[in-house]
Amino acid sequence: MEKLTNRSVQVNRSPMTFMERAYLPALAKGLKITLGHIFKKPATISYPEVKRPFSPVFRGLHILNRDENGAERCTACGLCALACPAEAITMEAAERKPGEENLYREEKYAAKYEINMLRCIFCGYCEEACPKDAVYLTETVMPASYTRESFIYKKEDLLIPVPNKKEN
Ligand code: SF4
Ligand code: SF4
Repeated sequence: MEKLTNRSVQVNRSPMTFMERAYLPALAKGLKITLGHIFKKPATISYPEVKRPFSPVFRGLHILNRDENGAERCTACGLCALACPAEAITMEAAERKPGEENLYREEKYAAKYEINMLRCIFCGYCEEACPKDAVYLTETVMPASYTRESFIYKKEDLLIPVPNKKEN
């Protein structure tokens, strides 16, 4: 039969020697590799007690920011959703009512704001697109979960607490 390539190798089918049948050389070779690794610095760490430092460019969970007076910065302009390559952001806009100036910074605000973290690729485009400095990616790692619903982060999950809020 014509060979397809010149890389084929003839298999050695000669009977095994006594030493090969005893597996002693192979055993010694394996032990040598094991002993060689005993005195090496381990490549693993005892997580979660020990944690590796993140890269300076690491991007984790999002937050929705407030201004210095505690009002929500997001105006539901939709630019973050438009910039998102994974179509992970959805929102619904609402009009600010008189008396709500302390809650919302502009006349429009996000009544609903959701990020599907199963879609998100943590690219940071939403943060770059936001003209109001409202959405940020933090250094918090997204926690694991067993349900798909728990990866849909709603506005109340994303919005930071009111700064310097007085405790009653
Ligand atoms: S980090 Fe990227 S993928 Fe995730 S929500 Fe923002 S724009 Fe979309
Ligand atoms: S987070 Fe920023 S870009 Fe996204 S809707 Fe709000 S203001 Fe617009």
